[in-house]
Amino acid sequence: MQTITVIPGDGTGPELIAATLRVVEATGLDIKWEMAEAGMTAHEKGLDYLPDETLSSIRRNKIALKGPLTTPIGTGFRSINVALRKALDLYVNLRPVKTYKGVLSRYDDIDLVVVRENTEDLYAGIEHMVGEDAAESIKIITRKGSDRIVRFAFDYARKEKRKKVTAVHKANIMKCTDGLFLNVARQVAEEYQDIEFEERIVDNMCMQLVSKPHLYDVMVMPNLYGDIVSDLCAGLVGGLGVAPSANIGADAAIFEPVHGSAPKYAGQNKVNPTATILSAVLMLKYMDQGDAAAKIEGALAEVIAGKKDVTYDLGGGATTSQMADAIIRKMGHPQ
Ligand code: NAD
Repeated sequence: MQTITVIPGDGTGPELIAATLRVVEATGLDIKWEMAEAGMTAHEKGLDYLPDETLSSIRRNKIALKGPLTTPIGTGFRSINVALRKALDLYVNLRPVKTYKGVLSRYDDIDLVVVRENTEDLYAGIEHMVGEDAAESIKIITRKGSDRIVRFAFDYARKEKRKKVTAVHKANIMKCTDGLFLNVARQVAEEYQDIEFEERIVDNMCMQLVSKPHLYDVMVMPNLYGDIVSDLCAGLVGGLGVAPSANIGADAAIFEPVHGSAPKYAGQNKVNPTATILSAVLMLKYMDQGDAAAKIEGALAEVIAGKKDVTYDLGGGATTSQMADAIIRKMGHPQ
């Protein structure tokens, strides 16, 4: 039996996570959920925003499923999510982007994967004012950080039977930092002769993704470009409601929707559970439970294509829990 840490999170997080746990349970897998607190919900109970027990639970179980957290305003925490990623050295941000029939989007058949470095670059948070009228931020790129993220992208491509990895950079301008990233990418690519490798400058990459997204497969890039390019890709397939993500390190992984806590809908059983359910699909694949993952994804795709049992943002009138019920029915588990 596998024990998984579950952080329901804030706002609409608890209802999205509840729906997702029911869908995962319907696969029949032997999983035990270990509930943990974080965010405003933890704070309101008199706990820290990121309690030590929550970190220990993830360290112990190595896998966590997480709802969105509301970022507290006016406290020392820049972001609890960033703190979690740092504490557990979750250096990969993996964002697959796929079209599901029935979701309004610009293109059919998009199937892209963004592998974003999650710990370095301008997100190292080293910035300061220089006098009153200038500010400086330091961009950190290391050989170790670049090597492990590019290697992850190639290993992922191999495991998922994908054909090509594109390294995204701006080494023509940032010859030192992005130059190091690109050189490491070229060196790592030599070791994966079975996977095609190519390079794109980030501005050209964005243009190409908007005009010819079908030319691309797995893309790997430093933190800031990854942040922007992955949202661009989410926009290609219908937005945040259907965008899952994984934060992966050597010793732990956290799976969560890309979207936030949508606090204005909290408690209304209204928002779309797709991104959270697809995050659980990523989690099951990571656990080598490919059959269970495929079963959920297939049922979810059918429900979305049917357009009837889906939430308001997908053009239907179903609640969060009704959409989960429909997915469970499609999986062959009548309610
Ligand atoms: P948001 O993603 O919560 O909402 C943006 C828009 O998308 C809203 O109109 C919302 O109603 C809609 N939306 C979001 N999820 C949806 C879903 N599942 N189904 C249907 N519609 C959905 O972004 P925000 O309003 O900028 O942020 C709210 C809070 O969430 C903030 O405190 C922010 O810091 C936090 N946040 C957390 C995470 C995370 O924990 N990973 C990520 C982003 C934002």
